[in-house]
Amino acid sequence: MKKKTLEDLNVAGKKVLVRVDFNVPIIDGVISDDNRIVQALATINYLTDEKAKVILLSHLGRIKKEEDIAKNSLEVVAKRLEELLEKKVNFIPYTRGPELEKAINEMKESEIVMLQNTRYEDLDGKKESKNNPELGAYWASLGDMFVNDAFGTAHRSHASNVGIASCLESAAGYLMEKELKYFGDTVDNPQKPFVAILGGAKVSDKIGVIENLLKKADKILIGGGMAYTFMKALGHNIGTSICEDDKLDLATSILENANDKIILPVDVVVTKEFREDAPFRVTNYKGMKDNEMGLDIGPKTIKLFKKELKGAKTVVWNGPMGVFEFENFATGTKNICETLANLKDARTIIGGGDSAAAAIQMGYREKFTHISTGGGASLEFLEGKELPGVVSLDDLEDGACGAGCDCGH
Ligand code: ADP
Ligand code: MG
Repeated sequence: MKKKTLEDLNVAGKKVLVRVDFNVPIIDGVISDDNRIVQALATINYLTDEKAKVILLSHLGRIKKEEDIAKNSLEVVAKRLEELLEKKVNFIPYTRGPELEKAINEMKESEIVMLQNTRYEDLDGKKESKNNPELGAYWASLGDMFVNDAFGTAHRSHASNVGIASCLESAAGYLMEKELKYFGDTVDNPQKPFVAILGGAKVSDKIGVIENLLKKADKILIGGGMAYTFMKALGHNIGTSICEDDKLDLATSILENANDKIILPVDVVVTKEFREDAPFRVTNYKGMKDNEMGLDIGPKTIKLFKKELKGAKTVVWNGPMGVFEFENFATGTKNICETLANLKDARTIIGGGDSAAAAIQMGYREKFTHISTGGGASLEFLEGKELPGVVSLDDLEDGACGAGCDCGH
């Protein structure tokens, strides 16, 4: 069902609650990847241009104990947002209470207020993460309407997304719309040839994705750690490579049902120790020794994958080809980035937190059609599941415009 989007709302002069996903990686107080903040700017700028009063909510990290509180303050994110927007962001270090309410009541058109981390409410009985109805209703009471731009959280049913949406007129923001468009269109209606590239650590994380993509894609190229479970299932020695022994039967049955759509690595880069500067060698997949582990795809595999990608019109990529965090084992992932960057007239989409981080870190941010901001959410989408954060938004079709609408429906 089509959902309402930003432009279906009458936002001028209204208090618009916006759920963004500013759950960004922070190392020693510094944001190491601001992709999620950058991608939310379009919605925020639209709303301030249209004279809305913009009230931002986001989570950051997990809050289980008192010690988690200080290190997950959104203050540093509010500062970065201010720089990117070149506009004042009034950060209120509370998730509820008189100071927050006063700040919101005093807002003028086009001003921005940002609440403290919504998950501070988790300390006292997981109110946010369990979609506590009182909390959702309270946050909804602070605004006139709701925009959900947090695709990264859309696979969760929390008070700050589903809870608020159930109380107010609600619509998808630009980023949410973009994510839905790319994943919806690509997966449901792909331009062929459609090639999927899967990698990352584990098969178990991505079983649903493999099964769903087998129905839609022409080819699935498998690299990364998950390839070794498949190789072992085929009877090869994988040494000490990462492997899920309880998934061997499943890997066998996936391969049996794949009708040769699945392409596995033909050579690998192996080492004896899992560390950055460990000595390494390239070997044919049959030549791995008992004390070696594969940490990247080899040059013949890169060539093979390039050949399979030639002429592809749609490519979905999830999961790095190797331990890209170590320079010596980043070659496979880099080559996939390079190959996709040079595909002509193709839609290239990355879903998955680490793959997105790898592509951005390697300098390919602008080279893909879309780099998703949602790790888990993009995986669930690729599995063909519905996302509660999206389902809870108003449908466009039924004309149910919510309170205060004078659009004539
Ligand atoms: P994504 O977040 O893109 O979905 P995953 O979380 O599934 O990806 O996997 C990413 C992790 O997989 C990375 O930290 C990477 O180091 C690891 N990985 C990739 N290849 C291997 C391998 N051969 N052995 C061990 N770990 C691997
Ligand atoms: Mg990951």
